[in-house]
Amino acid sequence: MAYLGNPGRTVEVLQKYNFSFQKKFGQNFLIDEHILEKIVDSACITKDDCVLEIGPGIGTMTQYLAERAGSVIAVEIDKALIPVLADTLSEYDNVTVLNEDILKVDIPALVREKNNNRPIKVVANLPYYITTPIVMGLFESHVPLDSITIMVQKEVAERMQVGPGTKDYGALSLAVAYYSKAEVVTIVSPNCFIPKPNVASAVIRLQVHREPPVKVKNEGFLFDVIRASFRQRRKTLVNGLSNAPELKVTKEEVVQALLAMDKPETVRGETFTLEEFARLSDILWKE
Ligand code: SAM
Repeated sequence: MAYLGNPGRTVEVLQKYNFSFQKKFGQNFLIDEHILEKIVDSACITKDDCVLEIGPGIGTMTQYLAERAGSVIAVEIDKALIPVLADTLSEYDNVTVLNEDILKVDIPALVREKNNNRPIKVVANLPYYITTPIVMGLFESHVPLDSITIMVQKEVAERMQVGPGTKDYGALSLAVAYYSKAEVVTIVSPNCFIPKPNVASAVIRLQVHREPPVKVKNEGFLFDVIRASFRQRRKTLVNGLSNAPELKVTKEEVVQALLAMDKPETVRGETFTLEEFARLSDILWKE
């Protein structure tokens, strides 16, 4: 089986299997060899690595990954693609294809079983409709992870990188900063996919921190505070946090915490750095 990373070969395979694209699965297949190589190069894969690919499609990037990695686990939701993958990946004995919804897979168990619990590398051209739950799920379930190299919407890549005071700053930016160091590898034009998406894309690499840059008493509570702070962006922190039932904090407690941090009562979450959220959540946390 020849490499799939060009439009002609992709169309040939799609026709052979009479494949119809499913919009609901965010299917935009890569057809640009240059971009495929850039993704795989930036993921720094060696034969020591176990790679998790989310959404292999017809196996275009999977072929590149299988050439370089020790093993590849490819999780694909669309059952119509399973016979295609059996064909396009038939030459590789280091690939396991699972016909599952990635959001329902117990990834920590998979890593224990397939990689002895050693950190894996995630590489994917993600289905854009679930980028945030996939990335947050990987981080929050504490999957042993080395890095995440993913194609996402350009606008989402920007959101992953921004700091306080910008309109795109939010829970995703803070989670990315807490768990990893982000670097945009390249911007990708819609012409590199079939069918073409409506938006520009970007490849972003998240190198996972061994230790988070801030230490908190309770990590789950920190992210509850962050999410509550951005739930209603226009609200002050005092209102946003005291109205969030899961936090169990009163208005007065938030006012006192802000006072201890020399912050005005009218302050909003979008101005807070990760360090400030960490401090606030430690003050508000009750054992
Ligand atoms: N990797 C291929 C490529 O680059 O050509 C395909 C990428 S396409 C953007 C996203 C892929 O994710 C599709 O194959 C789609 O069927 C699959 N997918 C969508 N939702 C999924 C889910 N919840 N779990 C696993 N795979 C999913």
